[in-house]
Amino acid sequence: QFHMIKYEDLKWDVSLGQGSFTRIFKGYKTDIRDGEKHVTNVFLKELDVVHKNYWESFFEAASLMSQISHKHLLLVYGVSVHGVKNIMVQEFVEYGALDLYLQRGRSVSVSWKLDVAKQLASALNFLEEKNIIHGNICAKNLLLAREGDPSQGSSPFIKLSDPGISVAMLAKDVILDRIPWVAPEVLESPDNLTLECDKWSFGATLWEIFNSGEPPLRGWDLDQKRQLYESYLQLPPSQWTELADLISHCMDYQAAFRPSCRSIIRQLNSLITSDYVILHAAEPVTQ
Ligand code: ATP
Ligand code: MG
Repeated sequence: QFHMIKYEDLKWDVSLGQGSFTRIFKGYKTDIRDGEKHVTNVFLKELDVVHKNYWESFFEAASLMSQISHKHLLLVYGVSVHGVKNIMVQEFVEYGALDLYLQRGRSVSVSWKLDVAKQLASALNFLEEKNIIHGNICAKNLLLAREGDPSQGSSPFIKLSDPGISVAMLAKDVILDRIPWVAPEVLESPDNLTLECDKWSFGATLWEIFNSGEPPLRGWDLDQKRQLYESYLQLPPSQWTELADLISHCMDYQAAFRPSCRSIIRQLNSLITSDYVILHAAEPVTQ
């Protein structure tokens, strides 16, 4: 279930382009509370009319996000329907998607990245405890609410966005294009997502975070992507052995062997010491 928002209560500001099946805008939502008018910044995600047959799945994503509340999950205020328009009204997150943020080349420390990873793991743990599958975890769907000061070591703050249209609805090519985020078993049965699928996606997302938002398998065509999975291959491993181990553990072709969130969190916490060593080893020797 979700809250219905009156179309008249929404104001549209600038267009921010397009999402996968959506047109996206900055906007405002007005509501009257205690006789006073409140205006909130919102992010408006309008399902593209050419994809209007996906409306049910689109609203399911909104419903999922409305039912659960966690500091690292994006707030969805509700949905608004106006004629052929289906709109998801979300909290506006200041710094946008994490992949783009990292790609802009802002240098961030290892502990900053580790903080992001831990925050995502805590959101995942929350979902796992509730037996809720997200289904579309990737750096693009991590939004940066607070930058922190990467050089001063003050922490970032991220929120996991809605999963969008369910993978069960998508055409084969679109699913193939989601390699390496989509778990290999999903290619065979897209309508049978499990918590383990999210673990695989988490592994691919960790890879992105620690590779500065670089798109994994950039430039690969769908055939090459499919062959990667058919040959049971892995993404190029990180130089940081413990991190590489965690990623490959999450991206195990055997779903049952992927770690629990507890174990992921434990492994991330144990990376702190190595992080410290790496930071110091990397410091230039100065007189
Ligand atoms: P998908 O379902 O595949 O995730 P989508 O429709 O959610 O697709 P995205 O590509 O995930 O679209 O998002 C498009 C862009 O919108 C992102 O790159 C990000 O910069 C921005 N964005 C998404 N949600 C928000 C938000 N709540 N606040 C601010 N910016 C956002
Ligand atoms: Mg998204």
